[in-house]
Amino acid sequence: MGTVAKRLAGLARHRRVEVAHEGWAGGRIRPLDIRSGDTVEIIAGKDKGKRGVVERVETERQRIVVRGANLMKRHTKANTQGNVQGGIVDFNGPIAYSKVQLVCNRCEKRTRITRQVTEEGVNVIVCKKCGERYERVAG
Ligand SMILES: [Zn+2]
Repeated sequence: MGTVAKRLAGLARHRRVEVAHEGWAGGRIRPLDIRSGDTVEIIAGKDKGKRGVVERVETERQRIVVRGANLMKRHTKANTQGNVQGGIVDFNGPIAYSKVQLVCNRCEKRTRITRQVTEEGVNVIVCKKCGERYERVAG
């Protein structure tokens, strides 16, 4: 490949990345299907296959924190005035929403859901795997 062709290919790649980024940053924030208290399975990354309960949902950043998953260590400095002990603190780092999937609490499979409102006006979610309608445990 000639130098010019290489440069053009590089530019094209660069443009694609920029467009993708704009789409992500400029797009509206969609509400996540997952709420705290839900059980999810991690479908990508180092914790793939692991299941855990959602502790926190960061809708703006499309990320969630799952108990026991994405374990990270934070090194803290001792602060004698604030009476803080130094050391290493384990904490669960946030995971991208796209890397987890909700686990149905009826059929226990990881699944996608749809939202519905029953005749009685109760908000329910429907598991696409087993078709079961149920109220959310939490959130
Ligand atoms: Zn199900």
